[in-house]
Amino acid sequence: MIDPRQVAAGIVGAVDWQGPVSGFCRCPGESLHTHRTGKKDCRVCVDGVPTIYCFHTSCAPAVAEANKRLRRGLGTPWTLMLPGGKILRAGDVLQASGTILPREVVVARAKAAGRDPGEQLVLETLAALAARFRPELFEKFHWPFAQIMEESPLLVANRDPDDQFRTWLKLWPACSTVWVGDVFSSGKPEHRTHFRPVAEWYQIGPVMGNYTCGAAFRPGTYSRSNENIEGQRFLVVESDTLTKDQIGAVFAYMNQRLRYNLHAIIDTAGKSLHGWFDAPPNKVMEGRLKAGLTAFGCDPKLFTYSQPVRVPGAFRDGKLQRIVWLKN
Ligand SMILES: [Zn+2]
Repeated sequence: MIDPRQVAAGIVGAVDWQGPVSGFCRCPGESLHTHRTGKKDCRVCVDGVPTIYCFHTSCAPAVAEANKRLRRGLGTPWTLMLPGGKILRAGDVLQASGTILPREVVVARAKAAGRDPGEQLVLETLAALAARFRPELFEKFHWPFAQIMEESPLLVANRDPDDQFRTWLKLWPACSTVWVGDVFSSGKPEHRTHFRPVAEWYQIGPVMGNYTCGAAFRPGTYSRSNENIEGQRFLVVESDTLTKDQIGAVFAYMNQRLRYNLHAIIDTAGKSLHGWFDAPPNKVMEGRLKAGLTAFGCDPKLFTYSQPVRVPGAFRDGKLQRIVWLKN
């Protein structure tokens, strides 16, 4: 019987094991890195879908090649005895809690979700992986609130409420129908006035409520529901648990490493910041991003595009909801 950790070490060299199935290693594409390489930038994991993952992007071809070799090498059945005596088999996932997610449960979850079992295993692996490298992610991509404000390509934080609102409107394609209101300004014909083209909002200003959505709607609608979404979609990333000094790391990671285009960061005048990103281009990418972001502490309901979010230019308990970082 093969030892999966020996197979991994045979491909990536010495591994600094951080747990039974995962540890830091030298990136197979380290020579391609364009930024300084840290000791904790690359990880190898042998459970679930065996994976080598690096925080750099320039090494991607070499990492992909090494991943092929790792998966080929671990393609035959293997088992590993964990400290405590439990047995992990090829295709099982060791979860952050320390419990084993058996591969049969992965198959059952796939069936329940109407998903391909292979993709389900990718998602379960991603969730476990994200939980493992979470501390390094928050360290490496550390982007505290003060620094976000300082580094904004456009200086926007001090603009007045009308200017905040109009600046935000420029994120939308001119033809978009956008909703602005309060949480319940939707669902009845009289709510039609809350759904307007960008040009009309430009005239009206931030007076119709404290919320908007990351998605545009079908013209003429009065209901903020998923079926009525049409045109532009932003993914608005937020968290109920991460502080303003922590969530920046998630924004930076998404923007720099995952290459999701960051348009703006909005201070909600409460405890949190919202990052406005391009939405994932397809369902598979969306599912994978959701698995990762949830493990980092983001709100899974942010993937419901008709979810209300704070609009810049409106006041919340006397404090201005405002853009604090804006792409040039
Ligand atoms: Zn690398």
